[in-house]
Amino acid sequence: MSSCDCQEYPDLTLERTAISGRARKTKHLKGHLVQIADGPDEGDGLFRCPICQQLWQRNFAWNWGNKEYLFRVPETSLEDWIKEPFVAPDAVLIYVAVIDDFISKQKFALAGENCRRQPCGHLRISSSAFCLRHHIESLQRNRMLPQTPPGRWWGPYLKLAPNQLWEYVASEQSRLES
Ligand SMILES: [Zn+2]
Ligand SMILES: [Zn+2]
Repeated sequence: MSSCDCQEYPDLTLERTAISGRARKTKHLKGHLVQIADGPDEGDGLFRCPICQQLWQRNFAWNWGNKEYLFRVPETSLEDWIKEPFVAPDAVLIYVAVIDDFISKQKFALAGENCRRQPCGHLRISSSAFCLRHHIESLQRNRMLPQTPPGRWWGPYLKLAPNQLWEYVASEQSRLES
């Protein structure tokens, strides 16, 4: 085979249909790829196209009935990838959608006292013993909001990485405090 169709599978957008559409085409796509590593979690894998050299990561989309799907990833060493695979788009999608929804649907107001987390220095929000960031973190710990997805943030998803969320949350907190 002298040509491949890797180029026909762009980076996945964060829509449910993008993940399910890719899952449907994964069997075909995988047909010309070669698996080069197993991930730390069962079923995760790294593949390479022997024609164009593109790397692909395989994950199972838990929220989609644990469907197998592949997505293109940047060049990396096997050693680095095994240590920390790339963050999976299905996990990013759920994380971003739920946290965005949580932040945008509520009207946060401040109470007069300090956040209970020490050392923090911010005021607590009225619906919690914590400031906005520590409130979100405590909901994540208590599984009332999705955990930050594991893995290396990269390419199209970098702008959604946790540091971006915390920057936004910090700006909301200072807006409330000003
Ligand atoms: Zn290819
Ligand atoms: Zn705090």
